[in-house]
Amino acid sequence: MKIKVGGQDRDVRVLFSEEQIRARIVGIAKEINANPTPDGSALVVLVVLHGALLFAADLVRHLNMPTEIESVRIRSYHGTQSTGKIELMSELPLRLKGRHVLVVEDIIDSGRSIVFLREELNQIGVASMQIAALLDKPEAHASDIQADYVGFKIGRNFVIGYGLDLDGHYRNLPHVAEVLG
Ligand code: 5GP
Ligand code: MG
Repeated sequence: MKIKVGGQDRDVRVLFSEEQIRARIVGIAKEINANPTPDGSALVVLVVLHGALLFAADLVRHLNMPTEIESVRIRSYHGTQSTGKIELMSELPLRLKGRHVLVVEDIIDSGRSIVFLREELNQIGVASMQIAALLDKPEAHASDIQADYVGFKIGRNFVIGYGLDLDGHYRNLPHVAEVLG
């Protein structure tokens, strides 16, 4: 498949099929289910929009504990380049105070978004924060950050699909594909 990026044709290669993603999500859910909240309170699933929308929707269906769903919008990317500057596009719900929170992210790249969110959640005073990321780019980490649950580790290439966009497009692809060249 070819797509246009900044007026240029770029090749796209499927990295993870719909079936592979589905199977891995069942595995991640099993890992999360093995770690219920210590006090039996509902786990607050904090979906980082828009990228983690599809991942979170599929993941929560396999969680066997009481859950609540919240969302936050942050932005760090323009095109295929990280701006390095994280913007909170929606307020974090104050009711997260004292709660056990599972942050659901599409992908960890530099890790700046996660570091930023961790600081914000610490300020609110969450009881605990864990991170589930569908994708992780270990080679791109700028800080010492580790997700608690990772779907797939990948290289540095920009990826699209299954929630991940390129300037707002391609989130609806059922698979994850990398943009080549
Ligand atoms: P970080 O703050 O870890 O550098 O970047 C995290 C955010 O950047 C992700 O939640 C995602 O929105 C965006 N991002 C990072 N890498 C990619 C990528 O390869 N493809 C897309 N579509 N978004 C990415
Ligand atoms: Mg994101």
